[in-house]
Amino acid sequence: MKVIKFGGSSVADANQFRKVRDILLADTTRRIVVVSAPGKRTKEDVKVTDLLIQSARMRLSGRDVGGEIARIISRYEGIACDLGLPAELIQGFHTDLCRRLEGDTSRTREFEDGIKALGEMYCAQLMAAYLNESGTPAEFVAPEEAGLLVSEEYGCARVLEAAYASLAKLRNRKKLVVFPGFYGFTRDGHIATFSRGGSDLTGAILAAAVGAKVYENFTDVDGIAAADPRILKNPALIPELTYQELRELSYGGFSVFHEEAMLPVFEAGIPINVRNTNNPSHPGTWVVSTRDIGGRAIVGVACDRGFCGIYVNKYLMNREKGFGRKLLQIIEEEDLSFDHAPSGVDNLTVILRQNQLTAQLIDRIKDRITRELAADTVSIENDIALLSVVGHGMRKTLGMAARVTGALATAKVNIEMLMQGPSELTMILGVKDEDAAVAVRAIYDEFFNPSAEPPPLP
Ligand code: ASP
Repeated sequence: MKVIKFGGSSVADANQFRKVRDILLADTTRRIVVVSAPGKRTKEDVKVTDLLIQSARMRLSGRDVGGEIARIISRYEGIACDLGLPAELIQGFHTDLCRRLEGDTSRTREFEDGIKALGEMYCAQLMAAYLNESGTPAEFVAPEEAGLLVSEEYGCARVLEAAYASLAKLRNRKKLVVFPGFYGFTRDGHIATFSRGGSDLTGAILAAAVGAKVYENFTDVDGIAAADPRILKNPALIPELTYQELRELSYGGFSVFHEEAMLPVFEAGIPINVRNTNNPSHPGTWVVSTRDIGGRAIVGVACDRGFCGIYVNKYLMNREKGFGRKLLQIIEEEDLSFDHAPSGVDNLTVILRQNQLTAQLIDRIKDRITRELAADTVSIENDIALLSVVGHGMRKTLGMAARVTGALATAKVNIEMLMQGPSELTMILGVKDEDAAVAVRAIYDEFFNPSAEPPPLP
C-alpha cells in the first residue's frame, strides 16, 4: 500500500485534478491520498491558504470579509465547473465558510486555525467527489473521524502518539481514502494546523500509521536537485539520498520537503519518493535509510543566507573554565537561538540568524560580553551565508575538503569559517553573502559538472 500526497500546485485547477486522477489510476496500490489546498496557478496568483488566513485576520479586526469569501469560493467553483461537478457542492462550501467566519472569535488562535485548514478540507471533499463522479470509488475522511489527534500548539501542532493506532485502521477502508493535509484535532475538539507546508507531515503520519510501502510526495519538480535552481540553471537531480542527508540539506536551505515530515517515515523506515505531477513518468528522488555511495560522495550543496557572527576574543580563553557556557548563557538570556559556535585558541564565534537582532540588542549583548566575561574584543559581522556540502561519502573519501576549498579559491571566494562535525556528513562554510551564488556554483561544478569552465576572474 502506498500513501500519496499532492501539493498545492498539483491541485491548483481542474487540469491538475485530472492529472491527479490519472496518477491514482496508474497504480492501484495508491490507497490513501492526501491533498493540500489549491496553490498558485501563476506566479502572481495567491494560494487559497493565504486567502483564508487573510479572511480570518480581517474578521478578527472587524473588517468586511465578503470580497475574500468570493475569491476563495471562486477557486473551488472554477475547478468544480470545469470538471462538471454539481453546483450544490460549492454552495455547501460557501455556507460553511460564511458560518465559520461568523463564529466565535474570542479564542483567536483557535479561530484562525479553524479557518486556515478549510483550504485542505474543501479540496479533499472536491477531489473525493470528482473521483466518484468519474468512476473511482473514493471517500473523504476527516481527521477527526480518523483520529488524527494533535497538540494544542496552534499553527505548529504536533501529532500525539495516540493518533497512530486510530489512523492505522485506514488500512481497512475499501474505497480510496481522500484525506485533507495540514491539520488535525485537539483533545477538546478544535482544529489545529501544522506549520506552513504541513500537508507533507500529514502524508508522513498516515504512511507511518498504516505501514505503507512507500510515501509518494508529488509536487511540481522532477525531484530534489543537487543545488538551488534559483542559483543554478538546471541542476542535476539527486536520484537517491538518505534521510539524514535530506535533513542536512533542508537545514542548509533546501525547501522541497517539510522539515518535520521526515521523522514519522524515518522512524518507520518508509522510503519517500518525491515526484512530479506534471511529469509522472519521471522516477523522481528516493529518500531511503542507507544508500550505496558509488561515485556520489556528496549529494548536494545548499546555501542559506541571513546569518551573523558574534566574534569574541580573549587571551588565554582556553584556560578559563566555563567561558563557553557563560557566553551561551548570555545568548539564551537574551532569548536568542544560535546555530553554530566554532572556536579557536583564544576566540569563540556564535553564529545566529541575523533577523533576531536589533541595533539595541546588539549593543546590549556586546556590552554584556565585554563586562561579564572580560572579553578583549567583541565584534559582530553581518550578512554571512552558510553553505552546506552534504554527503555520506565524505567520510571515506580522501581530499574532499581540499576539493571544496580549492574550488572556492579558484572562484576567488574567501572562506570566512569552516566547520565539520565528526560524522563528516556535512561541511559548513561561511562566506560573505555577496559571494554565496558564485560559491555554490563553484562547488557544484567541482562535483557535478567537472567539464564546466572555471569561473572568470573578477
Ligand atoms: N496549504 C498549506 C500551506 O500553504 C499546507 C500545505 O500546502 O502543505 O502552507
